[in-house]
Amino acid sequence: MTALSPLPSSPARGRSVVPQVVTGLITVAAVAVGVLERPQLVFGFVVCALVFIPLEQLIPLVRRSSRPDWAVDVAHSFANRLPITIVVTVALSVLGPAAHRIFPAGLRDAVLARPGWLQFVVLVLVADLANYAGHRALHEVGPLWRLHKVHHSSTELDWLSTSRGHPLDQIINLVVTVVPVYAIGFNLTFSAAFMAFQFYFPFLAHANTRITLRPLSAVFVTPAFHHWHHADEPAAVNRNYGAILSVWDRLFRTGYLPRRMPSSYGIGETLPASWLGQLAVPFQRGSGRAALPGGDGAGGRPGVCRKESLRPPEPPRPAGRPVRK
Ligand SMILES: [Zn+2]
Ligand SMILES: [Zn+2]
Repeated sequence: MTALSPLPSSPARGRSVVPQVVTGLITVAAVAVGVLERPQLVFGFVVCALVFIPLEQLIPLVRRSSRPDWAVDVAHSFANRLPITIVVTVALSVLGPAAHRIFPAGLRDAVLARPGWLQFVVLVLVADLANYAGHRALHEVGPLWRLHKVHHSSTELDWLSTSRGHPLDQIINLVVTVVPVYAIGFNLTFSAAFMAFQFYFPFLAHANTRITLRPLSAVFVTPAFHHWHHADEPAAVNRNYGAILSVWDRLFRTGYLPRRMPSSYGIGETLPASWLGQLAVPFQRGSGRAALPGGDGAGGRPGVCRKESLRPPEPPRPAGRPVRK
């Protein structure tokens, strides 16, 4: 049962509903605070819903009526916002100027002297490469995987799965991506445009649609490409880290794109159903231990400890024929 699901009318004998009520009230309050703090997110959320709900109904990859855990993803969408805003603002106010001072002035001037379109291309390359590195660390460093596995706990993917994630995971991801942008000192309009694009693009990558855009996977992260990042199959563990561009995975040999689509998703571990429960997961004793067969007991899924992931990845086949369910 999710935090926002209706409570049972007749609770099991001896089991108190008080914790569930308290959890539900805290979640609703956190969602309300997130909405008040960032009302424009509601508009973006509604636009995404208007685009992706019909798309997933009309051209689904996996046909289903609805999944039972959608409400916890809605909670993540809004309730995580305030802590993310506070911590990222503080972190960037410290790290941004420091990175700007450290970055070689000559190189910065050389970048910023280029035409606007070229600066934007450089911004995308720099920020997306930084995101690749941060995302890879979130998988391959044990304590960080404890945070990131919340995002990977979805066993059914759709556009809403994008939002599920521990706030500390999302903070790390955001700070790692934005600091290089601060260091170079790109035009604010370019930076804001990129950040908006980077926020909404993953909704497409997670979507439950047969429009997997597989031929574009040679350069861009497509639904086909990112679905394999979430696949619960040994050969797919710690693959496809890219957020916008898939070229980094090709360059660093972490790409994996079979001709078919994954048969299952998740981490082989059931996390708590509530938003608060999922927030607590990284700090629980034994969290992440043996999340999948071969887990190292420290982080659960770091690729460096999994025999299967040491195998060379199957070369990406961007022009492959999609196998549709
Ligand atoms: Zn990931
Ligand atoms: Zn994802």
